[in-house]
Amino acid sequence: MDKLVYFFGEGKADGNTRMKDLLGGKGANLAEMTNLGIPVPAGFTISTRACNRYFELGHRMPPKLDGQVERSVKRLEKIRGKRFGDLRDPLLLSVRSGAKFSMPGMMDTILNLGLNDRSVEGLAKSSGDRRFAFDSYRRFIQMYADVVLGVKKHEFEALLSVAKQRRKVEQDTELSAEDLEQLVVRFKDKVRRATGRAFPQDPRAQLWGAVGAVFESWDNPRARLYRRQYGIADNLGTAVNVQCMVFGNLGEDCATGVAFTRNPATGEDLFYGEYLANAQGEDVVAGIRTPRPISRAQADGDGDSLEELMPESYRQLMKIRNRLESHYRDMQDIEFTIERGALYMLQTRTGKRTGLAALRIAFDLHRKKLIDRKAVVQRVEPDMLTHLLAPVFDPTEIERARRGGRLMARGLPAGPGAASGVIATTAQDAVRMARSGKRVILVRTETSPEDLAGMVAAAGVVTSRGGMTSHAAVVARGMGKPCVVGAEALRVDEAGRQVRAGGRNLGPEDWVSLDGTTGEVFSGEMDPHPSEIQRVLVDRTLKPERSPLFKQYSTLMQWADRLRRLKVRTNADTPRDAAVARAFGAEGIGLCRTEHMFFAEERIAAVRHLILADEPKQRRAALAKLLPMQRKDFVGIFKAMEGLPVTIRLLDPPLHEFLPTTPAQFKKVAKEMGVAVKELEEKAAQLHEANPMLGHRGCRLGITFPEIYDMQVRAILEAAIACRKKKIRVHPEIMIPLVGTVREIRDLAARVREVARDVEKRAKASLKYHVGTMMEIPRACLIAGAIASEAEFFSFGTNDLTQMTYGFSRDDIGKFLPAYLEERILPADPFQTVDQEGVGRLVELAVKEGRKAREGLKIGICGEHGGDPQSVGFFHRSGLDYVSCSPYRVPVARLAAAHARLAEEGGAGSGTA
Ligand code: ADP
Ligand code: MG
Ligand code: MG
Repeated sequence: MDKLVYFFGEGKADGNTRMKDLLGGKGANLAEMTNLGIPVPAGFTISTRACNRYFELGHRMPPKLDGQVERSVKRLEKIRGKRFGDLRDPLLLSVRSGAKFSMPGMMDTILNLGLNDRSVEGLAKSSGDRRFAFDSYRRFIQMYADVVLGVKKHEFEALLSVAKQRRKVEQDTELSAEDLEQLVVRFKDKVRRATGRAFPQDPRAQLWGAVGAVFESWDNPRARLYRRQYGIADNLGTAVNVQCMVFGNLGEDCATGVAFTRNPATGEDLFYGEYLANAQGEDVVAGIRTPRPISRAQADGDGDSLEELMPESYRQLMKIRNRLESHYRDMQDIEFTIERGALYMLQTRTGKRTGLAALRIAFDLHRKKLIDRKAVVQRVEPDMLTHLLAPVFDPTEIERARRGGRLMARGLPAGPGAASGVIATTAQDAVRMARSGKRVILVRTETSPEDLAGMVAAAGVVTSRGGMTSHAAVVARGMGKPCVVGAEALRVDEAGRQVRAGGRNLGPEDWVSLDGTTGEVFSGEMDPHPSEIQRVLVDRTLKPERSPLFKQYSTLMQWADRLRRLKVRTNADTPRDAAVARAFGAEGIGLCRTEHMFFAEERIAAVRHLILADEPKQRRAALAKLLPMQRKDFVGIFKAMEGLPVTIRLLDPPLHEFLPTTPAQFKKVAKEMGVAVKELEEKAAQLHEANPMLGHRGCRLGITFPEIYDMQVRAILEAAIACRKKKIRVHPEIMIPLVGTVREIRDLAARVREVARDVEKRAKASLKYHVGTMMEIPRACLIAGAIASEAEFFSFGTNDLTQMTYGFSRDDIGKFLPAYLEERILPADPFQTVDQEGVGRLVELAVKEGRKAREGLKIGICGEHGGDPQSVGFFHRSGLDYVSCSPYRVPVARLAAAHARLAEEGGAGSGTA
């Protein structure tokens, strides 16, 4: 049978939590909760298959759908003892989207569907509450008009504000039945004027309109943007959940709420959430009224927590909370409604959390024997580690700021980490100011999906409204951005670009600082400082035994290290970077760029003399000056990486990069060098290239000016010998960049060996070293077998390899990449996440042919991609030996390598105790 609709109700469901592809996350978990015997209003899920069919049919409903929906509605009518479309006591429905991955705020919900001008009167009588009936109807009109008819929500909100002003009340709960009745008239009027038609009165037409709108919302620009941001495929489709309504707006013994089974910012084992009495749907997250805390422990002593006001419902909720956590073996994010004392669950899903919380929760569940070690490793997303390494403010500076009256507001600590920047009150401002090089804090009343670009551009986010589950909180946490929400003392005037707090008035040039770990917002600039992990590992200002957080972090990393097969190295050019990376667990250097060593103040002069030289003899004189300096650099790096391999790349960039660019600089440099400005300018003109990235650089420098590479090789090997004399174990690997032909690597490798023999002879010592090549030209990958017979190792330089495979100039990509992503010509920025289809194919080919020609050929990757979890997964599968990334990404890569290994075992998502 062509099943498109899945029913749930009365303790039994057609689906379950494993059917997320078909039912979406929300539908699969509504089914699962139903099967667990948890109270869930009955309903049915229209599958993603139906949605995909709808698009295939050119935006038409699949023919079989109608009958299946009709039968399901009949079943609901029987369960509830009410009829859909009945005028006296109508069955009302909610219609909600639900894709496989939760996409907060992306697709909208319609509540109270089935009401019309006549049945609203029926509802008023049957419920004995006229106010409730018209409150439900006005909400329905607003949601339906917004989602289905395209009349914007704020148009209705404006009308609501007018009604409240007229009555001189603050809350919508203070409006009377008559007020709401009038509002319904105005709302319908608005719809008629905006659409040219009356608000639809036929419940079945309402239902199909809603289902169609949910399908369509899968393809709206906001949803597309979100999917792009999180790498979610566009062809999954969304399911539609149709469910009997339960009412949280039937009076003061009713409520609606959202909660996390634990604190999502810290991971503390404390039931954590918010609720509103006499409210419906999204009131809690929309910031219409300020929601109140669920548990007493979380409350500020006002005595208005759910635990205190509705103890019986709280007890039930707590039981369900425990049940869900032990059933799903993970922290859950839940939504519920209490109708006249009866509790109903409306949603459960895995809760988003910070890195800190992820770590704590995983270890806590492990302690309770709910999950095993592998699952602990799996539960922490590699990128989350960046939260743990995120900066904080110095406590004494905070204390000073507090005493100095700079504390502007205290809100909820929604995204840990400290940030300081100038104020932007709109997403557009944030983007513009960040582009001009400013550090920006986005300060808004609240955020919505339209603000996504601004949030990406900002260093931190502050909102004056909203709770831990608000849009700003959820999205910022996902991005790993410091964030404070619900900082109620702030008055944000978005249009006037002003932020007011306690008599102070701040504008766009003013600084604010936020601490997303404590929830405090300060005026003025503050310096973010290193995190606890950083202080233990790198700065060594904190003893490891004094940091429980560090203990969990290091246990996690130990377990990850035991699982992974890929080694992780680092890209480091200085002893300091090498030491930091080593502290973070780097197992060697995968890329040491020698050109950075040339830029230091006292060296650049020698480099410029080298460039100006016309004859080898002059070049050698300049190089003789550089040799001892380079040697010293290498000694420092070898020491920092004692016992571990160090891959050093010989000079790579075009020489003109070392010459000045402005007339003033030319003058200054000429004077310093004692040459005529003209001579310098002529040389620069000579070196000018039309396509420098495809020009005189890399091994082409080695071929044309062999003295340069000779000097570098000598410096490396002499440094190695000097270290050995001091009993420091060294493993130098000399890497020739930008090789595209066999002769290049053969000739240059031969020359390296010649210099080596000379160094060894003079030092009367023998040395172990390797000569290999960077694989960054597509041609090199295509002839990898021949290259491998000359090179002792490969290291994929995926930045250049991506650049040349696509023919994209990395420096100019900003002009077209945004359009490519928008139009989905590319699924992701190929310079961030490796393109497996094309660039990846070259990598796989080179690995295969390279290893065929040279057994056990050591292969790594040293581009930016080495620190990107998705790319790390690909390199694992391609059989590389190691990835190399920047020092602060090393823990991320270690964990990503463990995840890759676990995914290979087919255990993704399992791993329970
Ligand atoms: P989101 O994906 O934005 O969380 P939901 O589909 O979960 O949207 O719906 C939002 C809110 O609508 C829910 O939290 C709940 O309060 C309300 N809601 C949804 N279905 C029902 C229902 N059957 N009865 C009462 N309220 C509902
Ligand atoms: Mg919603
Ligand atoms: Mg929800």
